[in-house]
Amino acid sequence: MHFDLVITGGTVVDGTGKPGVRADVGINGKTIDSIGELSDATAERVIDATGLIVSPGFIDVHAHSDGALLVDGQHANGIRQGITTEIIAPDGLTLAPLSAENYPMYRHYLSGILGLPSENLDMSSIEASRANYHQKTSCNVATFAGHGPIRLEAVGFEDVPLTGAALDRARGVLREALEQGACGFATGLSYYPQSFSTTDELIELCKVVAEFDRPLSIHLRNHNVDRSPQGGGVAEAIEVGRQSGVKVHFEHYRTQPGSAGDVATILEPIDRAKAEGIDITLETYPYPVGSSFPQAFFPSWMHEGGPEKFIERLADRSIRGQVIEEMKAVMYGRPAGNVWTWIGPGGDESMVGMLFDDAAGLDGDDLGEMVCDMMVATSLACGFRGAPPHSTRVWRQVEEDVMELLARPDYMVGSDAIPVGQLPHPRAYGCFPRVVGRLRRRYGYPLEQVVQRVTQNPAQRFGLQGRDVLEAGNFADIVVFDAEHITDRSSFEDPAVFPEGIPHVIVNGRVAVDNERLTGVLAGEAVP
Ligand SMILES: [Zn+2]
Repeated sequence: MHFDLVITGGTVVDGTGKPGVRADVGINGKTIDSIGELSDATAERVIDATGLIVSPGFIDVHAHSDGALLVDGQHANGIRQGITTEIIAPDGLTLAPLSAENYPMYRHYLSGILGLPSENLDMSSIEASRANYHQKTSCNVATFAGHGPIRLEAVGFEDVPLTGAALDRARGVLREALEQGACGFATGLSYYPQSFSTTDELIELCKVVAEFDRPLSIHLRNHNVDRSPQGGGVAEAIEVGRQSGVKVHFEHYRTQPGSAGDVATILEPIDRAKAEGIDITLETYPYPVGSSFPQAFFPSWMHEGGPEKFIERLADRSIRGQVIEEMKAVMYGRPAGNVWTWIGPGGDESMVGMLFDDAAGLDGDDLGEMVCDMMVATSLACGFRGAPPHSTRVWRQVEEDVMELLARPDYMVGSDAIPVGQLPHPRAYGCFPRVVGRLRRRYGYPLEQVVQRVTQNPAQRFGLQGRDVLEAGNFADIVVFDAEHITDRSSFEDPAVFPEGIPHVIVNGRVAVDNERLTGVLAGEAVP
């Protein structure tokens, strides 16, 4: 027997959750040819995995890498974690399908999260978008059909209901996206234009998604909650599943510093809905705080008309007082206690890493004023993260909760990575090794089970055929890691540091990471 590549001497943890077995893996072309005793085989390349784990490549179901992958397809922060497939467009924040007019506009609006990829790209369809990634990135890329673009293509950046002809247009755009390979439909109801929607709109759109047997991936509503008879949140998501028949996937559903230790409470409505027959899965990431862009602080009316109108209103001194009052009053999350992660061109870079409260104090300025000024100076190209709790006890409890959630067979991992900016949230560099290494060992979680949660579970939920488990005939998306040493090294104060204990990563049969070094190979494909 002759192979392009053989991985010898490792313990194969195949992704099904079954106990690992000592076996060699023979690869020809893009696929696994055989798994077993292959010591007689010859090969172009042999990777010695003695003492190491050989598992399917990890799948990240929530990655805001849409822009970063277009800027640098090598994508070191993801591939070095062992992530071989990323699902982009979570929260419906994405750049396709968008007309030649809408693409630069929404790119501008989303630059705080997606960065600044080239303005001259064809993003007019999911098919065109897939071509921009196919064999140009180190990892495979799957995409959701995003609620943001679908609404823009139907009615522009306007706060109008999707009914009648507008709804028909939106359903048509969504249907085409799903026909062209979108792996689900994603919305984020603290973002815009998504939050202009009503629950009825979501139900109507999700009836199309259900026809394709694809899931809805949802970031729960906390903006415009009056547009949902259920008041947004978990109840609205469940109602959409109930009325449309769509499978529902809950994005970053976990305890927070304020609810640490209370896993039972957050799961109660989920388990009630599942008992009723609604098909639900969930994802989490192993950090106590999140990351976003400052648009999320502002009331609905500020977003109407798109980014230029937004900046005009921010710069208008005659309404600044009202804007700041509403920021403080609304329940969208107050800006205090956050840290700048990215300050784009035009802004004062010395504020990167600074707590908002301190940055505001510098000028003797109000915190809201500081945020508005930064958004104007950078033309919206700025982002922030939360600050972790002062009490390490609380932080540890949130991490323990994450591993408790991952004990459930309906859970998987979504990093929510935002790989943009000078000091990004550490999840962009460390999410998967933190779960598979550090936290698994700390809480005595079974290795085979954690591998199942980050491979087979997401592949099956999002229809990534041939990438779920290691078996002959499947794609050779493989990570080789050291079970005792795999760990994240990125931290809140020094985030852009690669993990350790992951010597080899293989994508479609090609070696992307070799002895912890990037090879430069861009063998990732648009999937499924
Ligand atoms: Zn997200």
